[in-house]
Amino acid sequence: MYWNKEAETMPREELQKLQLQRLREVVKYAYERVPFYRKRCEAAGIKPEDIRSFEDLKYIPFTSKADLREVYPFGLFAVPLSEIVEIHSSSGTTGKPVVAGYTRRDLEVWGEVMARSLTMIGVTSQDVIQIAYGYGLFTGGLGFHYGALKIGATIVPASAGNTRRQITLMQDFGTTVLACTPSYALYLAEYARDEMGIDPSTLKLRVGSFGAEMWTEEMRREIEKRFGIKAYNVYGLTEIIGPGVAHECEEQKGLHIWEDHFLPEIIDPETGEWVEEGKEGELVLTTLTKEGVPMIRFRTRDITSFVPGECPCGRTGRRIERIKGRTDDMIKVRGVMLFPYQIEQCILEVQGVEPHYQIILTRPHHLDEIEVQVEMAKETFSDEVRAIEELRRRLEKKIEETVGIRVKVTLVEPKSLPRSEGKAKRVIDKRNLS
Ligand SMILES: [Zn+2]
Repeated sequence: MYWNKEAETMPREELQKLQLQRLREVVKYAYERVPFYRKRCEAAGIKPEDIRSFEDLKYIPFTSKADLREVYPFGLFAVPLSEIVEIHSSSGTTGKPVVAGYTRRDLEVWGEVMARSLTMIGVTSQDVIQIAYGYGLFTGGLGFHYGALKIGATIVPASAGNTRRQITLMQDFGTTVLACTPSYALYLAEYARDEMGIDPSTLKLRVGSFGAEMWTEEMRREIEKRFGIKAYNVYGLTEIIGPGVAHECEEQKGLHIWEDHFLPEIIDPETGEWVEEGKEGELVLTTLTKEGVPMIRFRTRDITSFVPGECPCGRTGRRIERIKGRTDDMIKVRGVMLFPYQIEQCILEVQGVEPHYQIILTRPHHLDEIEVQVEMAKETFSDEVRAIEELRRRLEKKIEETVGIRVKVTLVEPKSLPRSEGKAKRVIDKRNLS
């Protein structure tokens, strides 16, 4: 089921032509209207008319989150406030917030990409959609709202929180579609069962669109099982438009980017160069049609890769893998990029160890070395020395196969690694000390 078949299934060649034309327009638009972009381009010695192919994109400087904070609040706006009809903003917990301004047409586009996203997972005017993302300055609630409104589904604008009432609404109104963060979805299921004696799989829910935080395939299966639904991944960010930059189709094999509106690149976060097709890197996005705050080569800091090949659903927009992590978590060792989650995955796949670990980087002889300390499970700890050694080697091999370099694994006693109440400190870098 398509919302906009022509746009969603446009042959690649045609789509790329459209993208290039829009890219040239948006670069010119930003250059002429936003002093920040003009200065950046001038410093790089580039003019909008120099952009003749996608290759030329490389000459345009990136835009970072720090840049956005510097020009807070309206420094990247390309139109006067009188043309802005709505403003959203990030929470700004880690510094000045990011401000997004939408013209009437931007809201139209937002509704369009969200309508495509919801239609793609089977949502129609027959559905009752409960939007349990926060409404307000956060883009989650209203982004879904505009999409569902276009489709003509019955919207229950529940916003986040008030868990008991959410369940009651689902029961009383016969909610068929749930939109919220994946962790909240799990909590809703647990609350229904444990606090209200309701088996969540007996609710009328059919599908869910979950995002705004990182989650795993295992978590997807858990949500699907508990509610008896199909759970899909949505991707978006305030800087670009909010939710609706990309969404999974019914294949559940990657998220289609709405490429007629957003141009994706995947770069090596260290060098800024494009990575090989299919390789992991940092997602960079350019808005192709936005009027209020055009975003040129915005570094999302989100790690993903393009899914190779065509999708059986017939949509031609490229797919990205679910977001794996942030560039802030990246470790570079002997020229290889690796992420703590890769090591975590290996640990989770091996029996006999706990998901408590620490990565220690040293440089004893001018060469980086990685040690991964992992806690043994209680049962393992009492095993024979030979069995423990065998487990250690198995984990070393698995990690080497996954990340591509040799690491030293040390198995430590249960509960011996430090615990944290907030974000666990996984990486200890001692390279500058040794
Ligand atoms: Zn598809």
